[in-house]
Amino acid sequence: MESSETPAPSRTRHIALVAHDNRKSDLLDWVDYNSDVLRQHDLYATGTTGRILEDKLGLSINKLQSGPLGGDQQIGALITSGTIDFMIFFWDPLQQQPHDPDVKALLRIAVVWNIPIACNRTSADFIISSPLMNASYENKRPDYDTHLNRQVASEVAGEIEEGG
Ligand code: PGA
Repeated sequence: MESSETPAPSRTRHIALVAHDNRKSDLLDWVDYNSDVLRQHDLYATGTTGRILEDKLGLSINKLQSGPLGGDQQIGALITSGTIDFMIFFWDPLQQQPHDPDVKALLRIAVVWNIPIACNRTSADFIISSPLMNASYENKRPDYDTHLNRQVASEVAGEIEEGG
């Protein structure tokens, strides 16, 4: 579809794009296929993924640090602060990563904050073609008041008061 035929989205989504090295060509291919839609949204990516997408497709990307150097954690922080609407994360199921703890943490925090995640092309296709992309749908941020006010917090606070 020509860019001129792609209707402007009714709302700008903030989309995180991450791919491990063996999955970068898959992500590049998917982003290329959907570039007319994606260029109308705010894109974020870990460093190397973002550089490749910019160089090959001419997209404008908010590039963070490379994943193994803290980029995954930066994406996680953006999810936590409510900036990211959804994440396309093509992680490598066949190769151990030096930053496996960060990968697990990123996937976990996306679940904590209830954002959609696509880890393969079919899931990514379902998200990008969802009618909700253009609806006034807001991610429902879970209410963690029970966790924040759990007993242990008040106990520790009491100890500090007593100690002080
Ligand atoms: P990269 O990081 O885009 O800098 O390669 C991806 C990752 O491994 O998280």
